[in-house]
Amino acid sequence: MDINKSSDAASEDSLQQEFVQWPHLAGTFVVLLLFSWLGIVLSRQSEGVATIWFTNGLLFALVIRKSRKVWIHYFIAGIVADTLADVIYGDPLKLAFGVSLANSFEVICSSLVLTRWFGNPFHLTRRKELVAFLGIAVVGATAVTSALGASWTLLFVDGGPWWMLFRTWYLGDVLGMAIIAPLVFILQRPGFFVMLQRRQLPKTLLFLAVPALATFMVFRDSKDPLIFFIFPALLFVVFRLGFPGTVLATFVIALISISCTVSGHGPLMLIRNTNLPHRIVIEQIFLAVALFTFFPVAALLEERKALEVSLQASELRYRELASADSLTGLANRRAFDEKLEEEWRRALEEQESLALLLIDVDLFKSYNDIYGHVGGDECLRCLAKVIGSSLQRSADTAARFGGEEFAVILPNTELNEAMIVAENIREAVAAMGLPHCGNTSGVQTISVGVAAVVPELAAAAVSLVAASDHALYRAKYLGRNRAEATGAAA
Ligand code: GH3
Ligand code: MG
Ligand code: MG
Repeated sequence: MDINKSSDAASEDSLQQEFVQWPHLAGTFVVLLLFSWLGIVLSRQSEGVATIWFTNGLLFALVIRKSRKVWIHYFIAGIVADTLADVIYGDPLKLAFGVSLANSFEVICSSLVLTRWFGNPFHLTRRKELVAFLGIAVVGATAVTSALGASWTLLFVDGGPWWMLFRTWYLGDVLGMAIIAPLVFILQRPGFFVMLQRRQLPKTLLFLAVPALATFMVFRDSKDPLIFFIFPALLFVVFRLGFPGTVLATFVIALISISCTVSGHGPLMLIRNTNLPHRIVIEQIFLAVALFTFFPVAALLEERKALEVSLQASELRYRELASADSLTGLANRRAFDEKLEEEWRRALEEQESLALLLIDVDLFKSYNDIYGHVGGDECLRCLAKVIGSSLQRSADTAARFGGEEFAVILPNTELNEAMIVAENIREAVAAMGLPHCGNTSGVQTISVGVAAVVPELAAAAVSLVAASDHALYRAKYLGRNRAEATGAAA
C-alpha cells in the first residue's frame, strides 16, 4: 500500500504537460518580473536588506510540477524577468544579468536534484520530500546562489564586506524559498481550494485569524519580547488546517511581522544599540526557525491523515470481502447468520414479524451433469442476481446459504407479504428462461420455503430456519418450482 500516493497527487501526475503552454509561460514571466521588482523595493525600504526574495521560490514551485521537457523555457523566462527588474531599478545590465544567473542556479540545481531523487513532478507535502527540499533547496542551493551573487555584485559596487552581503542575501533567499515555494505549490493543488469553499471558508478564516492576531499583538507591542506567543497559535493551525493552512499562516505571520519591524514596531525594537538591518536579520531567523519547526510537523500530520484514510478504506474493503460470497457476491453464510441473529433480536424487542425465505435450485445435480460445473457456477451467479434485484427494501438481505441454496431475510414482514416476495422471485427466475433440459419445464426453476414468526423469548433464530427448511421440503415434495409457507416457528 502506497500511502504517499494520495488522489490529489495522482491527479497532479496526470496533469503534467509535455508541451509549453505559452499563455501560462507569459503569465509566469509577468509575475516573476513583478515579484523581482517587489523584492528590490522591499530591500530598498529596509535599508538595502532583501527581507524576503520571492522569485526563486515561485519559479521553483512552478517548474517542479511540470515536465522537464518544458523547464528550459521557464528558466529563461526567470533569468530575463530578473535581469529586466534589476535594469529597471537602475543596475548595469552586466551586473543584473550575472545576479539573475546566480539566482537561476538555485532554482535549476534544486529542481534537477530533487526530481532526480524523488521523481517528476515533485510533491512538496510529503515528509521525506519536504525535508530534502529544506536541506537542498532552502539551505544548500541558496548558499551557493548567495555566494555567487554577493561575489558578482562586489565586482561592480561597493557593498561592504563580502560576508555581510552574503549573509543578507542568504537569509532573504532562504526565507523566500522556504515560504514562497510551499505557498505556490499548495496554491496549485486542487486540495487547497477545499479550505476556501463556502462551507469551509469561515472556519479557515477563523483559524488563520488566531496566528494573525497573535502576531499583530506581539509585533505592535514594543515593550515586552513576547515573540514566543506566536508558536502555540501556529501550532493550532498545524492541527486544524494541516499543511496548506500552515504555509498560509506562516506567510501571514511573515507579512505582519516584517511590516511591523520595518515600520519600527515589535519586540525586535528591544534589541539595543543596533540598526534595522540587524533587526531584519533576527526577524528572518525567527521566521526560518518557525518554518523549519512547523512545516515538517504539518507534513507528518498530513501523511498520518492519508494513512488513516487508506486504513479505513482497506478495513471497509476487507470487511466487505469477509462477509461476501466469492461466487455470487451476495452475503455469505457467516454474514447471514450474524444478520439473522441481529434481526431476530430486533424483532423480539419490537415484537414484529420476521420472515425468512429458503431457496433451493431445482434439479441442480442434473444441471451440473448436463452443463458442467462451470455452467452450474454461472447459473448460480445468474440466480443470485435475480434474487438480489427482486428485493425492494434496503433492510432485506439476500445471502448464499449453502451450495445451491439461497436465503432471504425480510424484517418486519408478515407471512402473506413474504409469500408475495417468494412468488415474485420464483417467477423472475422462471422468466429468466435459463435452459435446463433435465427439468420438465425446460428452464431452470427454484423452490422456496417461506416462514414468518413474531419471536418469543424462549425461542432461537434457528427455529425460523428450521421452519423455512420444512416449507422448502414441502415445496420439493409437491413438485418443485413453487413456494410453500409455514406459519409459527417459535
Ligand atoms: P432438488 O431439486 O431436489 O434440489 O435436486 P438437486 O439436484 O438440486 O439436489 P440438491 O439440492 O441436493 O443438489 C445439490 C447439488 O448442487 C450438489 C452439487 O453438485 C451442486 N452444487 C452445490 N454447490 C455448488 C456450486 O457451488 N457450484 C456448482 N456448480 N454446483 C454446486
Ligand atoms: Mg440443495
Ligand atoms: Mg437443489
